Amino acid sequence: MLTLTCPCCGIRAEETELAPGGEAHLKRFGPGASDEDFESYLFARKNPKGVHFERWRHAYGCGKWFLAARCTATLEVFGTYKAQNPHPTPEIVAAIRAKRPDWTPDWTETSPAESLTE
Ligand SMILES: [Zn+2]
Repeated sequence: MLTLTCPCCGIRAEETELAPGGEAHLKRFGPGASDEDFESYLFARKNPKGVHFERWRHAYGCGKWFLAARCTATLEVFGTYKAQNPHPTPEIVAAIRAKRPDWTPDWTETSPAESLTE
């Protein structure tokens, strides 16, 4: 069973207490976007075997959305972080690299100051 710690209230919750919200860090497009951008926003999703970032809601707890980094093959959880973060926290990136040295993020890494930690 998948168990995630809600970063908003600190409760360690089983999968049945949570609601999945799909892929994290999707770039949203508004009016004026090209058809290709809007199509990719609506339909294109990653389906990796390995490190994946997902949205979850603590449905039977505080009710807030948060993000989780986990391995889809082993259910290993690398960490959870608040949904306002543009990228996983440096601690989560380090935890992923410790277990998956060949993993590379698909975003341009920024300084830790740009990643919210609270
Ligand atoms: Zn919570």
